[in-house]
Amino acid sequence: MSAAYRNALDVIAAVEPGVAGAIRGELADQRASLKLIASENYASPAVLLTMGTWLSDKYAEGTIGHRFYAGCQNIDTVERLAADHAKALFGAEHAYVQPHSGIDANLVAFWGILAHRVESPALAAAGARHVNDLSEDDWETLRKALGDQRALGMSLDAGGHLTHGFRPNISGKMFHQRSYGTDPETGLLDYDALRATAREFRPLVLIAGYSAYPRRVDFARMREIADEVGAVLMVDMAHFAGLVAGKVFTGVHDPVPYAHVTTTTTHKSLRGPRGGLVLCQREYADSIDRGCPMVLGGPLGNVMAAKAVALAEARQVAFADYAHAVAANAVALAEGLVRRGVRLVTGGTDNHLVLLDVSTYGLTGRQAESALLDAGIVTNRNAIPRDPNGAWYTSGIRVGTPALTSRGFGPQEFDRVAELIVGVLTDTTPSSTSKAKYDLPPGTAGKTRAAAAELLTAHPLYPGLDLA
Ligand SMILES: *Cc1c(COP(=O)(O)O)cnc(C)c1O
Repeated sequence: MSAAYRNALDVIAAVEPGVAGAIRGELADQRASLKLIASENYASPAVLLTMGTWLSDKYAEGTIGHRFYAGCQNIDTVERLAADHAKALFGAEHAYVQPHSGIDANLVAFWGILAHRVESPALAAAGARHVNDLSEDDWETLRKALGDQRALGMSLDAGGHLTHGFRPNISGKMFHQRSYGTDPETGLLDYDALRATAREFRPLVLIAGYSAYPRRVDFARMREIADEVGAVLMVDMAHFAGLVAGKVFTGVHDPVPYAHVTTTTTHKSLRGPRGGLVLCQREYADSIDRGCPMVLGGPLGNVMAAKAVALAEARQVAFADYAHAVAANAVALAEGLVRRGVRLVTGGTDNHLVLLDVSTYGLTGRQAESALLDAGIVTNRNAIPRDPNGAWYTSGIRVGTPALTSRGFGPQEFDRVAELIVGVLTDTTPSSTSKAKYDLPPGTAGKTRAAAAELLTAHPLYPGLDLA
């Protein structure tokens, strides 16, 4: 493998040495950083190699076996493999693996749901069988119907995602949005309040899923609420798909049997290539399959192939072991932090992430994030529920275990990571004039970097890959 990569980099360097240098530099950086970003991971060499192929060069708009271009047999093969693996892995009735990212998967889902629930009746009412048969007046009726739809999603400061109907994303312009949050005492999802909001607001789509909520969600309860108000339940499992795939989340915590439509990224805890996919119940399949050209450009054959490889990996026993280790490591990290006096949102975790409230150290999330980075620990700042410092400075730090677990870190290493984090937070002094500035003694930064390097050296990334 080393020889293959060295040869590949020589080929690239002959055209643009700057890119070859950046590729080498990125490997060195990834190897040397204690990566606790909850949304990142390390894909396998098999997944990475699949992306660098001529499957990238083929146009294949349409669906498997029904393409608008000739000669798509190999793209059909990889898309079918990816969809079949996704269906088998998640027990889904239908899988659409073309979305280029998580945002795209959500857009496909929203338009699929709108098409299914709004457009079809509107078409029928207009006496039309196909969208092309609609008159301008009919379109006007349809547009009005679309603009009148409502979505209910988790609030951003409780851990929801921008694509769940918030203004900076197109979903916030497609839907009238309202959000649900967590209980101020426990920090846990408040299902009773959610139900009351749903009954009053009557959304077309109830969106579950999160980027920064450290607990499991009861999807049976979510479905009950959706059914009660006639909403479609859409679950965005972008962050925790790996835990679903690895059977850490089962029963009511597995969204797939309960959601009408489930979306995900493929590159977070699922450890595949950057991309997205949509799973749905059979009745939504035709609407979801219209993702391209409704909101997507031509599918990326090389990435769908890499999804097939990653999903095949995720069906192996080793992946279930990995997913269980991700969750066990998160508990070790949370316990290590709590034992050393850190306040965690909800007091702990039962997924892959932990949310620290750093205000008890007098720090903003921005200050803590920068100080930790100076000490060689890569995290990201994140709002906490009812955050007094807003979404930019924040009062929280989000840490996750998927990436370092891929490197072979266990509970002991994560307890050591907790110790390093607490050491840095304790020694960081906030500026009295700026929410961004702080002072971290160089001694602490240096000592922590050395300790982090020791952990990383003991658990090398891509062992056996030597580019020198
Ligand atoms: C990361 C994330 C997304 C967006 O994924 P991209 O691939 O970056 O577009 C969508 N929803 C949730 C809940 C996420 O965490």
